[in-house]
Amino acid sequence: MHRNINLSYLLLFLVMVSSNSCTQGVNTEKRHVDIILEADHILTMNSSDTILKNAAIAINNGVILDIDDKKIIDQKYRTDQRISGKNKIALPGLINGHTHAAMTLLRGIADDRSLIDWLNNYIFPLEQEFVDADFVRIGTELACWEMIRGGTTTFVDMYFYPEVISKAVAQCGLRGLISSTVSNNQTPNAKNAQDAINGGKEYIDRWTNKTSTITPILGPHAIYTLNLDQLKETRRVANLTDTPISIHLSESEFELEYSKTTYGMTSIEALDSIDFFKGRTIAAHVVWPTKKEIEILAERNVGVIHNPTSNMKLASGIAPITEMLDAGILIGIGTDGAASNNDLDMWEEMRLAALLQKVTQMNPEVLPATTVLRMATTNAAKIIGLDEKVGKLEIGMDADIIQVAFDDVHHQPNYDIASHLVYVTDEQDVETVIVNGKLLMHKDQFFTLDTEKISKEVAIMSTKIATSIK
Ligand SMILES: [Zn+2]
Repeated sequence: MHRNINLSYLLLFLVMVSSNSCTQGVNTEKRHVDIILEADHILTMNSSDTILKNAAIAINNGVILDIDDKKIIDQKYRTDQRISGKNKIALPGLINGHTHAAMTLLRGIADDRSLIDWLNNYIFPLEQEFVDADFVRIGTELACWEMIRGGTTTFVDMYFYPEVISKAVAQCGLRGLISSTVSNNQTPNAKNAQDAINGGKEYIDRWTNKTSTITPILGPHAIYTLNLDQLKETRRVANLTDTPISIHLSESEFELEYSKTTYGMTSIEALDSIDFFKGRTIAAHVVWPTKKEIEILAERNVGVIHNPTSNMKLASGIAPITEMLDAGILIGIGTDGAASNNDLDMWEEMRLAALLQKVTQMNPEVLPATTVLRMATTNAAKIIGLDEKVGKLEIGMDADIIQVAFDDVHHQPNYDIASHLVYVTDEQDVETVIVNGKLLMHKDQFFTLDTEKISKEVAIMSTKIATSIK
């Protein structure tokens, strides 16, 4: 009996050793990758709108190495960082095509005013008084925190001190096209248009190819803050440095009237007359284009960023999105700055983009959910010139991936994923954010930001601002 027990132990020991070495044998044949992210469904946003079920993505060295059935991924790869996919939807990170990140510090400061009253009597004076490098750093960090929280992985920014913004964005790990703002008004970091253009060129020279996630660009503010010569010069420098331009375009009736009075033409026609659109242009708003101007934008491949909340809040008008789509114009979605929104929530923006067009046209069939999702991902990637890197989940693309939890009550039942993402999902449902293969957020944990420090600095800065406007 005694001997038998000993033999049984010996046999058990041999079985354990052999099974262990067997597992190790298989493991060594599997390729090690940085992260394996699983999901019940993966919305690839590829050209066939493929949705993969019970799938997984193998991420290595910042890129999507493989994407397939979970079983197949598990047979081929092993990892030390596995992100579970039960009740989760994975999709490309959202692209916010137009914002002013640091304006999060002016969130809610002068609501319920017209664009020009809001700009001239509140925003511009406050910016003159408070905006310095520190303001921009704190505001940008707050914005990055909010964008990561909500599943935005790339954004197009336009603000002052672009180097400060770029450093903050690079540090938090988001991908950004950061504009050096050009205006003929005195701004916190430039005396006039020429000074701003010179500063912009220096910034571009320093930041081009500095990191793989930051693209320095030029941001001429608008046709009413620059004259045509200055706009022409901005385009010349952009083309010289091979950088895109981001501009506010045809945003308000004020701009329309200003352009007609000043140049005898509407703003898009006036810009076209100086060949401003010869070079990549990311045009924010485009609320008031004429039929002829829509043709110009289509012909010149100008990408349009729709900002429904800002347009509604400032009563700028309703952009003719369906007419522009019909003309073949690429449309993306943006939040604009938090001072005119008042948040950076791309889910809300997608929802409002769809609803606003439906009610305006009295046609529920326009702008279906899949079109809106494409606007916030693949189309936006094309507009900003990053479509070979981001905007869809395919082998070889940079790994900019978000995972949305679908187990909360408002996602039940689940008949149509695209519908839920546009009409139901909100920021708090985002559970995982990966940019360039790096995990930025998982289950309310932020890995690149000191959120406590940001909150403290925001409180100190906002107290100063609040005291000054009383
Ligand atoms: Zn704007």
